[in-house]
Amino acid sequence: LKFEDAPVTPKILENIKKAGYSLPTPIQQWSIPAILHGRDLMACAQTGSGKTAAFLIPVLSLLLADNESLMKASMDLSTPSPLVVILTPTRELALQTHKEIRKFAFQTVIKSCCVYGGVSVNYQLNSMLKGVHVIVGTVGRVSDFTRNGKIDLSHVKYLILDEADRMLNMGFHDEVVALTEKCGGMRSEQRRTMLYSATFPVEIQKLAFDILNDYLFVTV
Ligand code: AMP
Repeated sequence: LKFEDAPVTPKILENIKKAGYSLPTPIQQWSIPAILHGRDLMACAQTGSGKTAAFLIPVLSLLLADNESLMKASMDLSTPSPLVVILTPTRELALQTHKEIRKFAFQTVIKSCCVYGGVSVNYQLNSMLKGVHVIVGTVGRVSDFTRNGKIDLSHVKYLILDEADRMLNMGFHDEVVALTEKCGGMRSEQRRTMLYSATFPVEIQKLAFDILNDYLFVTV
């Protein structure tokens, strides 16, 4: 399979080429078509497997095709209402993922913000208030913004949990569930949900069962 064989938006294909990716990695070969076809996903993949692009390419591609939602999300600036939320266990992973978002969304209308703890909330809040479609951030900081009513997650169409096993090891289970509830609820059919994890212990199997809707299981 080549990137061109999947119905990826031309602009994103161009940005994939610019990034120097010639062939999809195995996790990308399975993830990209599944997500483009609207399936929820439980994926077991290690760091270095290309897992980030495996969800960013199809999600950003679907987002670009949804002009109406993109425009609506840009209009109401009183409360940022993202369409895509990517949760990470750590600030490092959030920053690294944000770099990839900027690469794939380069020269498109997609606006993204990265939020994490340890720094003042004001800068992050102000940049979200300029309009945001994609938020990537740590479970901790996204939970803070949600609890304080600073962001509205009720319009989220794509929720991605990256390195979910690390989130659970850090004790974030209840925050992850609470954020999923805010993003339209558990096993929502209105939202697509993807869970990426390096390991697949019983806690992750349970989380997948609780939050995903009729999901595909992918392991590489
Ligand atoms: P990840 O597993 O998402 O942390 O990605 C590991 C590294 O592989 C990152 O530096 C990506 O930029 C790179 N990468 C991801 N997909 C591809 C691909 N299809 N071809 C070449 N490099 C890639």
